[in-house]
Amino acid sequence: MYPQLLTYLMELIKYQDQVIRTLLTLLIGKGMFEKPEETPVNKPYRKLQVDDLPIIETLQKLDYKVLLAEYLEKNRKELKPVQRRNGKANVPKSINCPRCGAPSDYLYANNGGKGQFQCKVCSCLFNDKSRYSKEAILKCPHCSKTLEKVKERKDFDVFKCKNNDCPYYQKKLNGMSSKEKSQFKKDPQAFKLRYIFRQFRIDFQPLSKSSPKKPKVDLARLYVSPHTLGLILTYHVNYGLSARKTAALMKDVHGVSISHQSILNYENAVALILKPYVDYYPYELSDQFCGDETYIRVNGRWHYLFFFFDAVKKIILSYPVSPNRDTATAIRAIDDVLMKFKEIPEDLSFVVDGNPIYLLAQHFFAQHGFHFDITQVIGLTNEDPVSKEHRPLKQVIERLNRTFKGNYRSTHGFGSEEGSVSFVTLFVAYFNFLRPHAALEGKVPVLNPELLQLPNMPARWSKLIGLAQDWIIEQQSA
Ligand SMILES: [Zn+2]
Ligand SMILES: [Zn+2]
Repeated sequence: MYPQLLTYLMELIKYQDQVIRTLLTLLIGKGMFEKPEETPVNKPYRKLQVDDLPIIETLQKLDYKVLLAEYLEKNRKELKPVQRRNGKANVPKSINCPRCGAPSDYLYANNGGKGQFQCKVCSCLFNDKSRYSKEAILKCPHCSKTLEKVKERKDFDVFKCKNNDCPYYQKKLNGMSSKEKSQFKKDPQAFKLRYIFRQFRIDFQPLSKSSPKKPKVDLARLYVSPHTLGLILTYHVNYGLSARKTAALMKDVHGVSISHQSILNYENAVALILKPYVDYYPYELSDQFCGDETYIRVNGRWHYLFFFFDAVKKIILSYPVSPNRDTATAIRAIDDVLMKFKEIPEDLSFVVDGNPIYLLAQHFFAQHGFHFDITQVIGLTNEDPVSKEHRPLKQVIERLNRTFKGNYRSTHGFGSEEGSVSFVTLFVAYFNFLRPHAALEGKVPVLNPELLQLPNMPARWSKLIGLAQDWIIEQQSA
């Protein structure tokens, strides 16, 4: 009797499960019998508290040529470069003194391979990794005391204000509940009471991108007509059809046999030609910019695509792809925006999500003398006034994300980093130069009469490629 009942109950549960799935399928409009599609894990970013910028005091720079001349005058003989006898460590040619600029010939390698050097001209002691600290002093913005370096991490050094009378420290200390205070006594590491600054040592010079280079591709060697290429781009990029579907469509509708791999190859070539044009085009910009990250799949792994764009003109200004959602990529993304200005506006400001990497990027640029504001908007449903004020911007970002995902979905991820960059480049070219935008009264963000007077999209794609090719030749001869 009991085993029979059990079997009966199992059958009933199975039946109910079927009913529930059927109802859900009807309700959601999506098959609930299939396995759920793998979706990116929305990994929470590291929540770290980023303090205000420190006071950065640039030290007066000395000039080794002046110092050498003074030495000669005072001692009536020249100061000779460092003699390096056998066994003495050499100093790499690329290193010079951060204080006076003396070349490597005047530097002692102080402790072998550890990267400590001393300058013979000005006697400055320095470590090549932290040479910046010899060019500037960092002071606490709350008490003006010099910050102390307390930790060295892979990409940055941590500086701390150790002043016990610092108002920042006092305020945090007094703000603790008695429970927190007793916890603090047991585990002081668990609390952040002191002012902290992270100084990045990323090997990146802001605004150092060189002028655009002519890509090494020759479209004349592709075995398709410009019109066919325009059709392919229209189907694949504008309409988001997969490369395979595009190939099938070309065969079934247009009678053109072309493999999906050839389609991807052609698109790589076109992306190389369009990229300098898209990146260096003299866009007319507004004063509202926002940025966001979205996911794309590269080689079976989720990558981050960083978008920064002009929220009013609807122009995408930067689009780096990275396996990591890190400060280095945030810096690259913002740098691509800064590159677009002839002069960086004084009241420049970016609206981004709550990820602290943008604040760290802001600090990085400030260290190099580039200043802008960062406004962080956390979530759409947030009720604080900042969020409400910036809600339209956030909606613009999400609409852009949706548009990109709509076009990207069918491509089923990218087989390589190169392929993903190509597709994103083509998407940005389409978005900035070809796609009519409802918020712009149906106009394209960059209005170019040469493109717009053409009767159809394939013709506009080939014209855009032509414009990009002419433009790069102009740049080279200018
Ligand atoms: Zn020196
Ligand atoms: Zn302080």
